[in-house]
Amino acid sequence: MAADWPELRAQMVEHQLRGRGIDDARVLAAMGQVPREAFLPERVRGDAYADGALPIGEGQTISQPYMVAAMTQLLELQGTEKVLEIGSGSGYQTAVLAELARRVCSIERLPALAVRARRVLEELGYTNAVIRTGDGTYGWPDESPFARILIAAGAPAVPVPLFQQLAEGGRMVVPIGEAQSQTLHLVEKVDGQMRTSTDCGCVFVKLVGRYGWEE
Ligand code: SAH
Repeated sequence: MAADWPELRAQMVEHQLRGRGIDDARVLAAMGQVPREAFLPERVRGDAYADGALPIGEGQTISQPYMVAAMTQLLELQGTEKVLEIGSGSGYQTAVLAELARRVCSIERLPALAVRARRVLEELGYTNAVIRTGDGTYGWPDESPFARILIAAGAPAVPVPLFQQLAEGGRMVVPIGEAQSQTLHLVEKVDGQMRTSTDCGCVFVKLVGRYGWEE
């Protein structure tokens, strides 16, 4: 029997998100809309709404739904923002951001993932998200400044170019710590200065690049 995706998605929103304290109505609505199953390789599609990360090929993972929601909620998107995302991966988080912001510029290091994510976003009709291949730790100077930045891979520290490309009053969410485990950080730019606070513990794949980890 075919899976009832809308029902599974609604249950995920109710139990994994609302049940754990995600209360931004726009985030809950967006995650109730975006078909997570469309971003997954065939062999793991049946687990699309399971409570965890899943392999998407190339040694990378799609983040747990709760983590996508927690990071997105921390950004406090109103709908007018230009967002920079580092680590497009499957493109799922990109789609959630595209639902909630004006424009999303996303960078993925691995070409095969970028090609696949781009295709899925196009098939689903997202016209306000662009994916580029490259080392995202340099940011995207031509498109900067960004009101919001989301880094979907674990970094040893805040990549300097990314803080430079964050707009005044802007918010950046980034997992910082060791290669195997990190703490989600919220970085704000206030009068040009960095103001940092920490949220929950998390486990992301490595941010590999000039201002991240060595390969
Ligand atoms: N949010 C994604 C999860 C991505 S996993 C999703 O929903 O599917 C993190 C991604 O970051 C991986 O695809 C990895 O290849 C990518 N990545 C790691 N270092 C990077 C860098 N320096 N620039 C761009 N992408 C990077």
